[in-house]
Amino acid sequence: MKFWDIEELVSDFARFYILVILYEGPTHGYNILRKFKVRVGRPISPGLLYPFLQRLEERGLLTYTVQPVGRKERKLYSLTDKGVSFCNQLFRRFSSLVSTAIEPSLETCANCGCKIYEGGYTEVIDGVEKAFCCIHCAEAYKRMLRHI
Ligand SMILES: [Zn+2]
Repeated sequence: MKFWDIEELVSDFARFYILVILYEGPTHGYNILRKFKVRVGRPISPGLLYPFLQRLEERGLLTYTVQPVGRKERKLYSLTDKGVSFCNQLFRRFSSLVSTAIEPSLETCANCGCKIYEGGYTEVIDGVEKAFCCIHCAEAYKRMLRHI
């Protein structure tokens, strides 16, 4: 039995990101493929996209209108109200999962105690390297030390 199926995980991510694109507003299937490739840096196959769109439709999360394009027709997909609230829930759950995953590795500002997501400022104070969210917190910390 395979413990870890990377392809499956990638497909799950692709489905998740398709929802992100749909959430931005009504769009054509072709446009989803294009946006996905531009933003994620790799293509998704129409064989993954269209069955997924159909499943969303069957569950009442997605609807479409047909637009004529020359002699052809194109479907313009949009999320239903149910689809929008499904996405809201999904994104909330996803963002709390992500922050749970990254937060333990985040440094905390020695002055104000906030988590340092990116950048930050470090300074060696009394021989110990301290992390701060910004230079102002470092200054405040040093002022505080002088007053103790
Ligand atoms: Zn700070």
